[in-house]
Amino acid sequence: ECRMTNLSFSAYSPWKTPAARRTYAAGTLWAAGVLIISVSGHPDAGGWLRLRLDAAGFILLAASLIGGWNFFPKAFRGLRKYRLDMNFLMTLAIVGALLIGEPVEAAAIAALFSFAELLESAAVMRARRAVEELVNLTPELAVVVLDDDTEREMPVRQLTVGQRVRVRPGDKIPIDGTVIDGGAGVNEATVTGESVPVAKSVGDPVFAGTTAVDGFLEIQATTDAGETTLARIIRLVRQAQTRRAPIEHFVERFALYYTPAVTGLAVVTMLVPPLMGFGSGLEWFVRGLTLLVIACPCALVIATPVTVISGLTSAARNGVVIKGGEYLEALGRTCAIAFDKTGSLTEGRLVVTEVEGVEGFPDEQVILLAAAVECRSEHPIARAIVSYAGGNTSDLPPVSGFEAQPGKGVTAMVDGRPLRVGTTRLFTGIAVPPRLRELEADGRTVVLVGNERSVIGLIALADTLRSNARAVVARLRRMGIHEQAILTGDQEQVARAVGRGVGIADVRAGLLPEEKVQFVEELRRRHGTVAMLGDGVNDAPALAAADVGIAMGAAGSPATIETADVALMADDLAMLPYAVRLARMARRLVRFNIASALALKLVLAAGAVTGTVSLMVAVLVGDMGASILVTLNAMRLARTKPEPIDAEPRVYA
Ligand code: ADP
Ligand code: MG
Repeated sequence: ECRMTNLSFSAYSPWKTPAARRTYAAGTLWAAGVLIISVSGHPDAGGWLRLRLDAAGFILLAASLIGGWNFFPKAFRGLRKYRLDMNFLMTLAIVGALLIGEPVEAAAIAALFSFAELLESAAVMRARRAVEELVNLTPELAVVVLDDDTEREMPVRQLTVGQRVRVRPGDKIPIDGTVIDGGAGVNEATVTGESVPVAKSVGDPVFAGTTAVDGFLEIQATTDAGETTLARIIRLVRQAQTRRAPIEHFVERFALYYTPAVTGLAVVTMLVPPLMGFGSGLEWFVRGLTLLVIACPCALVIATPVTVISGLTSAARNGVVIKGGEYLEALGRTCAIAFDKTGSLTEGRLVVTEVEGVEGFPDEQVILLAAAVECRSEHPIARAIVSYAGGNTSDLPPVSGFEAQPGKGVTAMVDGRPLRVGTTRLFTGIAVPPRLRELEADGRTVVLVGNERSVIGLIALADTLRSNARAVVARLRRMGIHEQAILTGDQEQVARAVGRGVGIADVRAGLLPEEKVQFVEELRRRHGTVAMLGDGVNDAPALAAADVGIAMGAAGSPATIETADVALMADDLAMLPYAVRLARMARRLVRFNIASALALKLVLAAGAVTGTVSLMVAVLVGDMGASILVTLNAMRLARTKPEPIDAEPRVYA
């Protein structure tokens, strides 16, 4: 239901709501009242002056009631549910100030608190809205090529699968699609966070919202306008913003006890000292009121959402989609990371290095039979075998009954005869050719081809380490993530070679998907919070078992974006340390914000009880000041950018 048409938020502005208008009115009336009083001289004067002061009092009363109307109804609703919240505190403060004949104070509290509320909702809105800027990255109009080869401008949101669009140099690409003509360097920063242009030519995929820096492109749409990668990102970040981080629940539970406790304390302050004969009742009443104002938990309540939303948005704009505050928090806490090998630490672009028939079985037959089955599989091994066989799937023998055995391989009927392609686990009880061990010792990934009785051949493949894998592993270790492990379904020697190549000693090889899950759970027991980096579809169970399941290169795979807790859109490991850094910073800011707001309030509260902090200072510093501090602090997250991590390419074998 969330199509492109309603991707842009309504024109809702926190500055134009009825509450905002009441705030402006209260502020203006308060200023007018204070002005009249200040030019009117001594309040004891009579006559004409008396009248002016009465008018001022009336204006201030109006300011208090109008501004206070932002709190009264909510306080009343809360009271009916036996809940004393900040609205109740405000109401008490305003009404109390009026009752003791301090209309200037009452109006000030009403106006300033309304304004503080306004600032807060504007801050949350602003953080929320930042992701909307992504929406504006898709152009309004697209140049569509019609069937008779003429061009026509069309609103982008009407684009559908299969339509052809043209993009000129410097233009934004309007839709996800495949290049069918032309070529250009494309800046994909909006989707992947990487701003170095990627060369695109015929056959390459392109994303909506990215920019053709130079050159013309003709693109065939592979999605409807509302289903592009960018649209998905925006949708997911919006959903993420509405999910609460665990610490938010904590703050809310805290506020539940905090407000009644403070109210009680304020009542004690108002009643006990004067009853015991210390000072005037009025004086202590004002001190109690001041305490109530300081106690208002607004800054505490907004500290987390503002920071979390700011973090989620900043991440999304740099190509990291985080599915909610809980994952941001968990990622910031993580001190153990498990890596999938294929496609995560390695490029996942395997190449066949050797094909060998067993006992005179022709090599060409081995690869042909294997390719016939593998063209149904999405596994990187499958892709390598198919492309080695020539990539032409139409010449292959007919296949039926295809079945993928996760972590083991694939089985099917080829030309009516059963065939298996995969690890030795698929061939238990069957003699394996000695050549297998030799190739494995060379660090090759080897798959066997055969049936339930014998092995007819084997295929060896090699992968390349990601050029920055070693540097990223080292960077993470410097960041204090000492527990790093490789989990793989591939066999021991290959896994060890990769481990040596990247600098990870803890290597678990030959794992089935459910064994990966067990291992992730073991890591969780030992280290608390565990993140797992893998390819979203293949390693889904292990990713789900981890506290944070991270998928890389998600831009090309909609399913991965949906399933991972954290999707690194770029196919670049360097995004991982960035995501961790951002998450940690967000976590620190939340804690710092809550702690400093509490500390500030504590100091002011002490001042209120001793009478050194006036009601006005309490409002300005204790509430508005704390809220602004918290918000400004959260905005620092928007400036955190990924650092590129480069290294020379390495081969692990
Ligand atoms: P990884 O943990 O490296 O991602 P997987 O769990 O996907 O590995 O697979 C483990 C092993 O199972 C592979 O090394 C391979 O030997 C075998 N295998 C999995 N899928 C296939 C396939 N489609 N064709 C052949 N072998 C496969
Ligand atoms: Mg895998």
